[in-house]
Amino acid sequence: MRPRPRHEMKNIIIFGAPGSGKGTYSAEIATRYGMGHISTGDVLRAEIKNGTELGKVAQGYIDNGQLIPDNLMIDILASKYDSLPQGRGVIFDGFPRTIAQAEALKKMLAQRGHELGMMIELIVSEDVLMFRLLRRAQIEGRADDNEETIRKRFAVYHAQTEPLAKWFEAEGIRHTFSWDICKTKEGMLEAIFNEIESQNQ
Ligand code: AMP
Repeated sequence: MRPRPRHEMKNIIIFGAPGSGKGTYSAEIATRYGMGHISTGDVLRAEIKNGTELGKVAQGYIDNGQLIPDNLMIDILASKYDSLPQGRGVIFDGFPRTIAQAEALKKMLAQRGHELGMMIELIVSEDVLMFRLLRRAQIEGRADDNEETIRKRFAVYHAQTEPLAKWFEAEGIRHTFSWDICKTKEGMLEAIFNEIESQNQ
């Protein structure tokens, strides 16, 4: 594999359906390049665990497989972004999930003199996604990983999030990676690392 870039990294938006591996690949990318990592799902789960006001609001939506309202998410995202050390780039995992969030992210970054960077889309068929999520339910015990809520999250993904892929396409920063082509986690990672490195030359 090529040597890692030494200079500042572009921001990365990791994009895909529930169960597509956003969390797993984000963690690998963050470790390899020393980037910051914001998982909005993890932020919300921590708020719920700590019993905060935000957690109480979020829980109803999450348990139902619905999205938290955009204005709330955008505020959370901006404060989380500002709390990270600047200069190595940030991976946005689970955000944006709507066009409004994407527009807000672009604006928030522009206000700070930063850019969206690149979008990495993970393409995985729905039967593989369902298999993975039901397995994760057994391992991690996430309350929203039951078949009924998973079906709702897929429906929300198709209706509200999937159309965003075209938004990123129009921004000229969409990069797709297909599980059917790469076949293994290692294959996916190699393709993703190669693309990140060619984008950061
Ligand atoms: P995740 O861990 O990314 O699958 O997120 C779990 C749940 O948290 C989602 O099903 C949503 O209810 C909520 N959530 C996470 N990120 C967002 C977001 N960007 N916008 C709205 N809701 C979100």
